[in-house]
Amino acid sequence: MEVTKTKTKEKSPEKVKIKGKWVVLLGAPGCGKGTQSEYLIASDFNFKVVSVGEILRHNKSTIVPGQVKTIGEIIGAGLLLPDEVVTGVVKLELQKMQSLMGNLADKNIIFDGFPRTIGQAKALNELAIEFKNSIDYVINFEIAEDILFKRILGRYKCSNCGKIYNDYFLQPKVSGICDQCGNNGFNKRGDDNEAALRVRIVEYYKNTYPLINFYKEMGTLYNIDAEKDFEQVKYCVLQILNKEYK
Ligand code: AMP
Repeated sequence: MEVTKTKTKEKSPEKVKIKGKWVVLLGAPGCGKGTQSEYLIASDFNFKVVSVGEILRHNKSTIVPGQVKTIGEIIGAGLLLPDEVVTGVVKLELQKMQSLMGNLADKNIIFDGFPRTIGQAKALNELAIEFKNSIDYVINFEIAEDILFKRILGRYKCSNCGKIYNDYFLQPKVSGICDQCGNNGFNKRGDDNEAALRVRIVEYYKNTYPLINFYKEMGTLYNIDAEKDFEQVKYCVLQILNKEYK
């Protein structure tokens, strides 16, 4: 199945009644998949997330197996980590989840930023079989390149609570003070600069873009218009998960 649609007027369903679904969020850097996955896990929808980028950032001083560079250096250059490294990270994360929560066959899991290559997608299919599940929904966030640049280069977050702001789209109500926690410290991701972003976009088109066809052929692809605002994109995501996306 492949559908592209943007709903604008209706109110969000605000409920997701699914069990045991594995969901892949696919899209270029800055498309908003991270923001939507944060919303889904913070809501009462029983979602767990596997965010490979987050896990890698927590291990940035580790040397990449078989290379002289650290994980942080590869991320900082905007390049992708090798498939076997990220696939290993995901497998370990699923094993940890399983030991904490039991069988993953009936757990809702979001994969944010994984897979990013065909090799990773095939590995994820195998992992799904191993954990007695399958990839049910692949939500592809469609967005124009010029918007990606503003979203990424303008992006920064509160150093205390992590709330995300943007110089172009969302500034704190009082300049320099976080709306959510009142903190006055902010930081930017090391790879949110123009040079790294250009490489990340090249990597996206070379390695990740072909996944759209891969999942289209598997029959699990849903395209959404990710240029819309957060509420409208959220509405589409919830519609897809509730099988009400028409
Ligand atoms: P993200 O937080 O998803 O934007 O990822 C940040 C960076 O982590 C990427 O630019 C890559 O360097 C690395 N990374 C994250 N996920 C993957 C992946 N699935 N495959 C390879 N590298 C990844």
